[in-house]
Amino acid sequence: MNDQDLERYGRHILLPEVDYDGQQKLLDSHVLVVGLGGLGSPASIYLASSGIGELTLCDFDKVELSNLQRQIVHTEDMLQINKAQSAKSFISSINSNININVVDKKLSENAFDLYVKKNSVDAILDCSDNFQTRYSVNKVAFKNKIPLISGSAIRFEGQLAIFDFRDNSSACYECLFPDNGEENELRCADHGILAPVVGIIGVMQSLEAIKVLLNLNPIKNKLRIFDGKSNEWKTISFKKDKECAICSSSSDHS
Ligand SMILES: [Zn+2]
Repeated sequence: MNDQDLERYGRHILLPEVDYDGQQKLLDSHVLVVGLGGLGSPASIYLASSGIGELTLCDFDKVELSNLQRQIVHTEDMLQINKAQSAKSFISSINSNININVVDKKLSENAFDLYVKKNSVDAILDCSDNFQTRYSVNKVAFKNKIPLISGSAIRFEGQLAIFDFRDNSSACYECLFPDNGEENELRCADHGILAPVVGIIGVMQSLEAIKVLLNLNPIKNKLRIFDGKSNEWKTISFKKDKECAICSSSSDHS
């Protein structure tokens, strides 16, 4: 770190839990953010300002007017621009010293797996808005033993869970939400979402990602549910499912 870095990250370095070495670790880390919508916006902004040295932003969608209500990384002059590109442009203006990669096309599960393998990713944030993507991201993160920080939000409610695949006893996303092939997901486009609720969950994802990178006891095998009406959090514990199609030792991962 040079003098400018020491000044920029000084308030982190003051924390004994982070210190010089921890900040250096963040600068040496590579975090991948899947989805640059309501969750990915605040998450990627905090990861960048915190000095995560390399970010990969994945989104194949374009910025629409209806996104601006909650997707705070995008601005009016970015309408119809790819979301990952738009996010990169905003984030670079906060921190021009980090590397930001853009994946602006929809990747197959295999292509995503290859990308992760090749680019030594340290943590993945699932900020997507559909089960198909969540299941794919879960499989790839599990296969490559990369911690997965998963968030979702609808109406006044948000959810957060961390699957730390560096630890073999960690459950996976499918242990918690098994893929029964049913398309029963609730979408913000149909049900609405109060803007700050995605902000709260996205910020929590960035917090837990930093804790994962610094080994500061990220929450484990717990689903945290936020109720924006009562402003209260509920915690549900869950365990690795021995029958899980993805992560159980009896399942075939080939
Ligand atoms: Zn599982």
